[in-house]
Amino acid sequence: MFFHAHPDDEALLTAGTMAMLAAEGHRVVLVVATSGERGQADVEPGEALGATRMAELYASAAALGCARVVNLGYADSGLAPGGGVADDRPDGAFIDADVEEAAGRLAAVLTEEKADLLTTYDPAGGYGHPDHVQVHRVGGRAAEIAGTAIVLEATVNRDPLLRGLRLARRFYPQLDIRAFERAYSPGDVITHRVAVRRFARQKRASMAAHASQATGADTRTLGVMLKIPRPLYRLIFGTEWYVRRDAPLGSRLRHPFEVPPKG
Ligand SMILES: [Zn+2]
Repeated sequence: MFFHAHPDDEALLTAGTMAMLAAEGHRVVLVVATSGERGQADVEPGEALGATRMAELYASAAALGCARVVNLGYADSGLAPGGGVADDRPDGAFIDADVEEAAGRLAAVLTEEKADLLTTYDPAGGYGHPDHVQVHRVGGRAAEIAGTAIVLEATVNRDPLLRGLRLARRFYPQLDIRAFERAYSPGDVITHRVAVRRFARQKRASMAAHASQATGADTRTLGVMLKIPRPLYRLIFGTEWYVRRDAPLGSRLRHPFEVPPKG
């Protein structure tokens, strides 16, 4: 089970792993906390954007071979200008949800699916969106309640990401990479490096499904990513990274279900 904050987060972080596990015959379930109705787009934020983004999520899930999509139905907390928690967030925002209550609801899906594995986010919530930090809290607690054996925190190895973005900036000088310099995780805390190059086509299809997030403004991350030439794309997006807290630091695991060495 792959737990994400908003539609399109799965495309950037875990799409290759999802396609790989589905191809191996696993039942892959995608859960989002919100429909992303306060995301950046050319249309006004609101209910219609949420419906559009959920339709995009279903298309992405189909491209990746997911068996089921679940939306926990919280309101997208949005992002304050310059980052952080927005003051004008709506009632029912995911960031305001009681962790125990939200975790109980996610745990019910984990139990129903008899899930062997749950992915959440690193404690920083990747680039720091409040809903992503909340995914870390809620996901970790849900796995405790449901007794889920394996919890992987989806992240990005900051080191090659920065190298790739600096390269991309040569072609797209407007790309602002400062936000990425403190985001995600440094390579030395990452326990899993999952090779997903064989699933680059599915991952690209997943990204392309999120059209509302990839068109218009040139500076949107997804839009920039989709403009990257294919050979470079395979290089940057050929690996997905996870941190498993109960695996010894320095583990170099290759598959989500690989048993970690004794610490
Ligand atoms: Zn998100």
